[in-house]
Amino acid sequence: MTGNARKWAAWLGVVLVGLLWGTGSARAGLVALTATPTPSTTVTASPSPPVGPRYVVQPGDTLYGIATRFGVDLDRLMAVNGLGPNDVLYPGRELILPDLAAVSGYLYAVTVPFGEDWRSLARRYRLPPAEFVRLNHLVSPYQLYAGRPVIVPGDATGPQAWPALARLQLGPGEGLLEAAARQGVNPWVLRWLNHLSGASQALADDVLFYPAADGRDQALGALPPEVRAVRWKPDPRVQGETWALFVTLAPAALPADAADQAPPVQGAWRTRPLHFAPWDDAPADDAAGRTFVALSGVHPLAWVEPYPLRLEGTLPDGRAWAFEQEQPIAAGDYGFEEITVPPEFLDATVAQAESARVAEIMSGYTPTRYWDGPMQAPSPYGGDCINSLFGTRRSYNDGALWGYHAGVDLCGGLGTPIYAAADGVVVLAENLEVRGGAVILDHGWGVYTGYWHLSAIEVQPGQQVQAGDEIGLAGSTGRSTGPHLHWELWVGGVPVNPLTWLQQAWP
Ligand SMILES: [Zn+2]
Repeated sequence: MTGNARKWAAWLGVVLVGLLWGTGSARAGLVALTATPTPSTTVTASPSPPVGPRYVVQPGDTLYGIATRFGVDLDRLMAVNGLGPNDVLYPGRELILPDLAAVSGYLYAVTVPFGEDWRSLARRYRLPPAEFVRLNHLVSPYQLYAGRPVIVPGDATGPQAWPALARLQLGPGEGLLEAAARQGVNPWVLRWLNHLSGASQALADDVLFYPAADGRDQALGALPPEVRAVRWKPDPRVQGETWALFVTLAPAALPADAADQAPPVQGAWRTRPLHFAPWDDAPADDAAGRTFVALSGVHPLAWVEPYPLRLEGTLPDGRAWAFEQEQPIAAGDYGFEEITVPPEFLDATVAQAESARVAEIMSGYTPTRYWDGPMQAPSPYGGDCINSLFGTRRSYNDGALWGYHAGVDLCGGLGTPIYAAADGVVVLAENLEVRGGAVILDHGWGVYTGYWHLSAIEVQPGQQVQAGDEIGLAGSTGRSTGPHLHWELWVGGVPVNPLTWLQQAWP
C-alpha cells in the first residue's frame, strides 16, 4: 500500500462513517482522525483573543505583502501580533491574521498551476467553492492566471490538499450515480469530495474528483480526464523566443480512424491559432496516450504580462471541451541601438506593403515537417559571427522611426555563399524593394526562414532544398547599409530569435 493509498483509506473510512451521521459529524470525525491520537487536542477554542487563522512567514515575505495578500489591515496585523516598526520579520514566525474569524487553522499561499480553475482548486484544497472565492477575493475566473498565488487553508504541517485525485466527467445525459458506477466510485464519496449538496448539482461539463486508486495525482483538474498532460517549453515563455506546447490525450479521446484526420485538439495563444501535429517522440511517460505538439513564438515586443492559452477539442462521444487560462511570460534581454540610414529608407508606404506580404507568407502552416534537429548557420562564418542581434530596439535617424530588429545580421561579405538553414521548400525567391534579394523557405509546422539583401538568388519557388544547400550569395541589396546576411525565423506567425534554433532541436 502506498503512502497515498493509506491516507485515502483512512480518509474514506471516516467519510463513510461520517455520512451516516450527516455531513457535520463527518467533518468533525475527519479532524479527530488526522490530528494526534488524543481527540481533545482538536478543540482549539482559545479562552481569549486574538483569534484568526495563522500564517507562517516565508522567506522574502514583508508585512505589507502579507497584509495585501490576505486582505487584512496592516496596522491591525501589526497590533494583533505585537509588532513594532523595528521588529524583524523572520521566516518561520507565526502571525495571527486578524478579522478573518470565519476561517481557522493555518493559511498558506500556493501558486495556481495551469489547468485548474476556482472550482477544482477549492475541491483540491477541501474548501466549498464559495469559501475559496471569498477567501481569495475573487470577482472573475480570469484572475486565476497560472503562477498567481492563492490562499488555501491547512494545518501546521502545510496546505491541506487531498493526497491524490483522479478526474471524472459526466458523459452526455449521464447522472452522478451512473458516472460513479461507471468509474467504480462510491457516489457518496463523489458528492462529498466535490462539495455537491445533491446529485443534480453536478453539471454536464463539470470535472469531478475521486480518490486516485494508483496514488498518482492527476493535475489539470479543470480539464476533462481525457486530457492527460499539458506541458510547454521553455517555461515560462520568453519574449522573442520560440515555444513548444505538448498536449497528451488518452486513447479514448482519439478518433477511431486516426490517419489523416485533423488533430483532436486545437488552440490559440494570445490572438493567434495554434496548429497541432502528432508528436511521436514524446517521453515514455506519455505512452498511455498520444501527444500532439504545436510550435509558436512570443512576439519580441509583447508586453510582459499574462496572456491566455486556450485549448479545445471534441471527444469521440461528441462532448466538446474547452479550457482557457492566462499565463505570464518572461522578458527577453534586448538592447537598444541608434541607426542612421539614408532618408529615403524611412518611407513607410513601400515598407508596409512589403512587410504585410512577407508576414502573410511567413505566417502560414504546412502540416508536413521537413526539418529535423537543430538548424545550421546559413553563413559560412557560422552563427557566432554577428553584426546585429535579434530583437534589438532601434531608433532610426534620431527617432524619425522606431522599430526592432526582426532577424539576426550574420557576417557575409559580397558574394559569400548562403545556405539553407534546414530542409524545406522555397516559397519566395525574388528581389524586394526593402529586403533586396530575398529567399523564404517553408520548413513545415509553421516554421519559416528568410534570407535578405542577397546579391544573387540561386533557387526558385517550389524548389525543395536540404540543409546546407546554397540558395544565393550575400550582398547589400534593398535597404541595407553594407553587405551582410539578414536571417529571419518565424514560428506560428511571429518573428523569433533564430539563434535559438542553432543551439537546440525543436520541438
Ligand atoms: Zn538585419
